[in-house]
Amino acid sequence: MKSSLRLIVALSLATLAGQNAMAADYTAAGRLFYYDARSLSTRPLNQNNGAANITVEVREKTDGQAATKLATGLVGWDGRFSVPFSWASAADPRPDIYLSFQFKNSKWRVVNANGAIYTISSPVRWNNAAGPIGFGDMFVPRNTDYEKAMWVFQSMNEGWMYVESESGVDAGDQIRVQWPGKDDCPTSCASTSGIHITRARAGNTKNVIHEYGHMVNFHAWEILSFDFTGLGNDYCRTEGDDAASCGHDWNSLEWPYPAFKEGWANFVAYAALDCIGNNNCADVEDRRFNRNGEGNEGNVTAVLGDILDQHGDSHVNPDTGVQGRDNLDWNFRAMVGVLAHMSLIDILGEPDVTDYVDEIRDMYDGVNGPTWESMMNNSWIAY
Ligand SMILES: [Zn+2]
Repeated sequence: MKSSLRLIVALSLATLAGQNAMAADYTAAGRLFYYDARSLSTRPLNQNNGAANITVEVREKTDGQAATKLATGLVGWDGRFSVPFSWASAADPRPDIYLSFQFKNSKWRVVNANGAIYTISSPVRWNNAAGPIGFGDMFVPRNTDYEKAMWVFQSMNEGWMYVESESGVDAGDQIRVQWPGKDDCPTSCASTSGIHITRARAGNTKNVIHEYGHMVNFHAWEILSFDFTGLGNDYCRTEGDDAASCGHDWNSLEWPYPAFKEGWANFVAYAALDCIGNNNCADVEDRRFNRNGEGNEGNVTAVLGDILDQHGDSHVNPDTGVQGRDNLDWNFRAMVGVLAHMSLIDILGEPDVTDYVDEIRDMYDGVNGPTWESMMNNSWIAY
């Protein structure tokens, strides 16, 4: 049975080949680099880095007609790509090809203000013989929007590497990332429809991963199609005329829901950038104890960082004399698991970290180290 099937396939191929020319095998290869001048990246800065994880299409250039896509591949971590394709045409025995580099992959895409995916093309290599076709080293044009869009793309890469590739947590497929963002998002923002990065923050790796952290949160809550406009939009506790325009930052006094949501997003960024337990990177470790138990995103970040990090804090709770905890058997996946246990009713109740205390305690139990109470008493949480 198997051998007769093979025969049918072989006959079909022979028929096709008879109508055209014999199919020939090619490979388009080369490297694509961009100049990396972002802040707080995990990759070496102020040098050319590989345009990792973007899509490369091999296309055939035909005068007066739309180009034909011949094959698709991905650029590797070192900027290398190698995309095999075959060509068979009696009328045109040798293909004229070029490469289309598109700022997308199966997980996210970076689009411009009009919603179009950033795309750059190589020169055309005319009339190629079968075998390898080398495009050599190519570079994203310096000081262009393409370069900055590539920074946004590579910061997404770093967030994704930590959250999904290393931790096994899926933040969802095809996140839309727009740069520059929209006018009603003066800073960057994330919503169920995707991420918007404000123009000035293309090179701000922490900000891009922060917004990615919001998407991890939304995905864990399974509210990517849920319109929560109006829910917890009041970030800070300012009252009076300027309350509506009140924004938020690392130190602002906030309601519990935004404090939790923003503290979580900060935490994802600092974890991905290896800033937890690294004071050269961010003041997460030595954040001062907040004895009033007030809502504040920087303190939420510090609490989550304390859960994850690998060494004790230098700050001490002045009321208890207890230092931060140390060496918990904890991982990022478990933390997203805690998020995912929230029901929509919980979310509508505008959760803060205290809503997670029992679940976190379950995961903490059985681990050697400071008591749970010691750890929580050292945080901003009053429970
Ligand atoms: Zn945020």
